Amino acid sequence: MSRVIFNTANSSRNSSASASAGMSAAPLDARRRPLRDLRISVTDRCNFRCTYCMPREVFNSSYEFMPHSALLSLEEIARVAGVAARLGVQKIRLTGGEPLLRKNIEGLIEMLARLRTPDGQPLQLTLTTNGTLLAQKAQALKDAGLNRVTVSLDALDERLFESMSDSQVSVNRVLKGIDEAARVGLAPVKVNMVVRKGMNDEQILPMARHFRHSGHILRFIEFMDVGSTNGWNLDQVLTGRQILARIAAEFPLEPVQADYRGEVASRWRYVDGGGEIGIITSVSQPFCGDCTRARLSPEGKLFLCLFATQGHDLRGLIRDGASDDDLAARLAGIWSARDDHYSELRGQHTPDQPKIEMSYIGG
Ligand code: SAM
Ligand code: SF4
Ligand code: SF4
Repeated sequence: MSRVIFNTANSSRNSSASASAGMSAAPLDARRRPLRDLRISVTDRCNFRCTYCMPREVFNSSYEFMPHSALLSLEEIARVAGVAARLGVQKIRLTGGEPLLRKNIEGLIEMLARLRTPDGQPLQLTLTTNGTLLAQKAQALKDAGLNRVTVSLDALDERLFESMSDSQVSVNRVLKGIDEAARVGLAPVKVNMVVRKGMNDEQILPMARHFRHSGHILRFIEFMDVGSTNGWNLDQVLTGRQILARIAAEFPLEPVQADYRGEVASRWRYVDGGGEIGIITSVSQPFCGDCTRARLSPEGKLFLCLFATQGHDLRGLIRDGASDDDLAARLAGIWSARDDHYSELRGQHTPDQPKIEMSYIGG
């Protein structure tokens, strides 16, 4: 039986003991990383076909999305989240696919907002969206208990935005969503721009100019080799350092201290007080050493890395009548055996099976 190491009791116990005694203790993985964040993908469907995520050649009418019956119900999701909170999760991000397409996402948020950490704190609840439905849903999301949103936007140029998202949606609609989210208090809004060299890198400066002094935090993400359908190659990656250099040439920047262990973006602020930006460098400067994230797929598989090829089924356990203690023991066991650090190994080995797709697990 595998050993489960906990970071609260300054000793280790084995996993059978954890089922009865250690349920509020937080397990450490094989690299001594605690479980702090849970990303929940609530659907594998999306109303965009971003070329780097759901290329239409693959995600078309012959692609088999998950049937509704395969998805975890909202109650099942909230149950897993509650158990995860007992084990140390402090922050939950809802994602997808496009999470605002999931029916009654507000109902799920209400359930999640009632959860507490072992020391009685509410969880931080966030959501990543393409912004198309945000203007109409922001108030309901806020009322349900959501704390913040991250909105993906890869270009301000209409033509480029349409071609990258492979949709008819206007940039303006997404910008309205961002403003409405900020207005109702889902702030600060983070805006994610995936930078693909030769595709949208000339939008870095227009985006920086647009979001300076807006109160929103623009974050630049290196194009990643997630999944196996987006034709990734290293030549299309503009590194965080190169992105920073382009911005700093027009607007001098200074570093900002990270807020907490495991923060994925390195933070910078404009010296002239124009606000803050973030850079996510999972390709050029991996941050696996501090990775405290687990990911739950729409049908209830727990993945321990964005680049995993296999998940651990929780739905079977739940539908077979497992108690919360059974679930907690299973989760603790899975987490304690985790040794993933894909980004640090990138290029050194090729997984023998296809990696999971971003639209399935949610980034
Ligand atoms: N549909 C929502 C959205 O776009 O915000 C949530 C899901 S999407 C998979 C989550 C994030 O992953 C988005 O910010 C998206 O830009 C990012 N993403 C998708 N594919 C990526 C890739 N290959 N490299 C880097 N980021 C990627
Ligand atoms: Fe949809 Fe988000 Fe993927 Fe774009 S990045 S296709 S919006 S899931
Ligand atoms: Fe975490 Fe895997 Fe990304 Fe490393 S590669 S930071 S372990 S999700």
